[in-house]
Amino acid sequence: MIIILLGAPGVGKGTQAKLLAEKYHLKILSTGEILRKAVKEKTEIGMKAEKIINKGDLVSDDIVCTLIENELVIADENFSGYILDGFPRTIEQAKKLDLICAKNNLNKPYIITLSLTEGEILRRLSARFYCSNCDQSYNSVTNSTKIKGVCDKCLGQNFYIRKDDKIEIIKLRLTAYLNQTKPLIQYYHESKNYYSIEADQDIQTIYSEVALFIDQSIKVNLS
Ligand SMILES: [Zn+2]
Repeated sequence: MIIILLGAPGVGKGTQAKLLAEKYHLKILSTGEILRKAVKEKTEIGMKAEKIINKGDLVSDDIVCTLIENELVIADENFSGYILDGFPRTIEQAKKLDLICAKNNLNKPYIITLSLTEGEILRRLSARFYCSNCDQSYNSVTNSTKIKGVCDKCLGQNFYIRKDDKIEIIKLRLTAYLNQTKPLIQYYHESKNYYSIEADQDIQTIYSEVALFIDQSIKVNLS
């Protein structure tokens, strides 16, 4: 099983990915991590990617897709599938992923979109803060410290806001994200494996609804 999670930064993709990974015994694959692993292991493609990254350029779709394919075809007996985090990012990548699935006899992915209004995304992203001592991240809207002003992890009492969490930069990131993802959602939304859910609900409700959709789809696909 492959699940693709789509959603703007700040919608809670990471939390849902963890819950779904646990329920369906899936491995979470993030593009960033796969790239770092390939670079560290000095594979041929990893060294190619390293050169590009060192020049400050973006790694091509071809490289990213090859790395993803390499991971998807390894039958890891500890897991029954994958959750893709940060992939696909473009229609080209989505099309390549379809080809990879067809070529390797993998089931078509489930695409889950966590949707939020732009105003709400901005509100959540600008509410992020970090512990000055241990860098634990918090969000005053969705995930604050258990005791006000005290870090859950290290009991530190000083916090800071990251430069790229400043409102102007968040707006730029959000616009870039929307420009990239809107066509992707259009590409997928006709698929019967596509499901979109309003992310402005509590974590457990979103999780139950998504799991229900996947369970029902599995039944339909089996019959
Ligand atoms: Zn701390």
